[in-house]
Amino acid sequence: MAELKVWIDQDLCTGDGICVELQPGLFAMHDDGLAYVKEAGWSDIFNGAGGDPVYKMAEGTAAVPDSHLETTIEAAEECPGECIFLEIIE
Ligand code: SF4
Repeated sequence: MAELKVWIDQDLCTGDGICVELQPGLFAMHDDGLAYVKEAGWSDIFNGAGGDPVYKMAEGTAAVPDSHLETTIEAAEECPGECIFLEIIE
């Protein structure tokens, strides 16, 4: 069954935080001033372990639950860095 995934290219992120405002369940800002994705239900981008964010660049994609779909697409559309990517994983 296909699953929608989201990731951020931190090299292009402007750090304005629009994605977090629109969908705080999947996006969060790091101390480095850039946005990262997290899995829905995680309290932060570290999954409680601390250190570096778990998902960086295209190496890590977070699942987009149906309940988060509309705002995640909106965040990708509004992102000034055009660096939020949605992928369908078969
Ligand atoms: S909206 Fe885009 S540019 Fe802005 S913080 Fe989020 S990922 Fe970065």
